[in-house]
Amino acid sequence: MKAMIMKKITNLQENTSPLELAEVPKPEPESGDMLVEISVCGVCHTELDEIEGRTPPSHLPMILGHQVVGTVVENKGEDSLFKPGDRVGIAWIYSACGKCEFCRQGLENLCPDFRATGRDANGGYAEYMVVPEDFAHLIPEELTDSQAAPLLCAGAIGYRSLRLTEIRNGGILGLTGFGASGHLVLKMVQFLYPDSEIYVFARSPDQREFALELGAAWAGEIGETPPKLLNALIDTTPVWKPIVEGLAVLKPGGRLVINAIRKLEIDQEYLLKLEYPKHLWMEKELKSVANVTRRDVGEFLDLAAQMGIKPQVTEYPLEEANQALNDLNRGGGTGAIVLRI
Ligand SMILES: [Zn+2]
Ligand SMILES: [Zn+2]
Repeated sequence: MKAMIMKKITNLQENTSPLELAEVPKPEPESGDMLVEISVCGVCHTELDEIEGRTPPSHLPMILGHQVVGTVVENKGEDSLFKPGDRVGIAWIYSACGKCEFCRQGLENLCPDFRATGRDANGGYAEYMVVPEDFAHLIPEELTDSQAAPLLCAGAIGYRSLRLTEIRNGGILGLTGFGASGHLVLKMVQFLYPDSEIYVFARSPDQREFALELGAAWAGEIGETPPKLLNALIDTTPVWKPIVEGLAVLKPGGRLVINAIRKLEIDQEYLLKLEYPKHLWMEKELKSVANVTRRDVGEFLDLAAQMGIKPQVTEYPLEEANQALNDLNRGGGTGAIVLRI
């Protein structure tokens, strides 16, 4: 089969072709696995982190890609959850042990044996992949393949972040940064909690304007004082200033959820501004989001179908994966990028 393969860690500034087109053996499903013929795979910022070594694959060579949509060819799973011809999605969670204290509590995203699609097991930049049948998701009919793919990452993690805020209808939610995930969270809040207000903190005037167009009640710069204090805040930035400034504008008992794989060191000294009475006293909480569970992916796909979410998508052929990654890295274009296999 054809695949775009990552063989080494490299810097995209110097090497604009980090992946190689190759002919590799079609994977063989083992007991418990399904063979899936891939139709599309979304391209995510996490792939840039893998290529440049910030979130390196656990072994090389690796086939990247964790927003995969395809059709079941063969199912060797014991539970026969899917039959050949079913349309399935595969997200960042590829497998977890199912036995540890975290898995037993539904926190499989925290499992010490958590394996990520396209990082610890071959992913979707290829014609076929195998996946444990328990870790695939039926794609709702309302969504086309390429509409469903981007939802499997930004949507599912956005959904998990929103769950972790424990916001209720009528509560005020802040969003710091307004990228793909923030935009989907805003739409989910409007649907699930129609009496809630959303305040968006973003550096870019374009993002602030976009947030207001979509129905945010207020938009301002990071560090600006919003009209009311917040019940919860989701931060998707890679820096520290929004954490300190965000804690300052939470109500008593408020919670700040960080939805970022890593934070940079560039403004770490901002943390020295942390004052206990202003930022933490009155039972304010700080929490991060790590990975996703199957429940997050499944519930979010159903929600997206009910809400009629249809992401705007630009398609590239598989062979042009390098071009797609470079375009994503430069931040060009609008909407999500998917590879058509
Ligand atoms: Zn992703
Ligand atoms: Zn486990």
